[in-house]
Amino acid sequence: MGRPAWQAGRSRLVCSCLVCSGVAPPGSGAGIDRGASVRLVLVGPPGAGKGTQAQFVAAHFAIPKISTGDIFRTNVSQGTSLGLSAKRYMDAGDLVPDEITVAMVRDRLAEPDASDGFVFDGFPRNVRQAEILDGILADLGTKLDLVLELVADDEEVIRRLSGRRTCRTCGHIWHSDFDPSSREGFCDHCGGELFQRDDDLPNTIRHRLDVYGEQTAPLVAFYAERGILVGIDATGLVDDITDRAIDALRHLDG
Ligand code: AMP
Repeated sequence: MGRPAWQAGRSRLVCSCLVCSGVAPPGSGAGIDRGASVRLVLVGPPGAGKGTQAQFVAAHFAIPKISTGDIFRTNVSQGTSLGLSAKRYMDAGDLVPDEITVAMVRDRLAEPDASDGFVFDGFPRNVRQAEILDGILADLGTKLDLVLELVADDEEVIRRLSGRRTCRTCGHIWHSDFDPSSREGFCDHCGGELFQRDDDLPNTIRHRLDVYGEQTAPLVAFYAERGILVGIDATGLVDDITDRAIDALRHLDG
């Protein structure tokens, strides 16, 4: 696979890998059988690229990407009561309390598009959330297929997060060093203003990494014990990381 296997469509991402684009037959190992129902979790430190890889994986398997961070951010920008409850934790780089997060996830999983699979980005974030997720899925008569760990060290993720700039208008993510927009402070795609997330400021990044180490990293052992954890190197070029991710998930293709 050369360039990214997905393209941004008007309202959703479309996978253009060899099978999905009709170049290779289903079952050839090059892509997805669209009948697959796949339930995945991506785990890794902030800045490991979970959001980016979750987009590729979601497009590849034609499943929704469920990002708890994105849902919280939407609620914050819309000023909902959920957003108001979550904001102060997010700004501080702390986890939003489990009760709030889990109720939100339960509602999201009840939506029809999640009935046939999903990829979680940013959930679960601690062992308690993982146990609750197991229970929710058991109630629905199903379970997780695989947990993909994106492995990147602190130095790498600090570099990535501190340069991350998001377009206020279209949401595109730029990087001041690795992928700068041509006009500083503005998006090349839509001309929108770029901003730095409050939780990407240096002190908050360090705190988020501490929170990850204390609360989220234990999930790696939790899922390894269940035999559903696969780790990939999440450093280097985005395309290469995507190839590793799709390779690690290949046996789930139909
Ligand atoms: P993210 O975009 O995944 O880095 O999430 C941004 C922020 O949203 C986190 O730093 C937390 O404050 C909050 N958040 C996202 N997912 C969760 C979760 N599963 N549990 C608790 N807080 C979360």
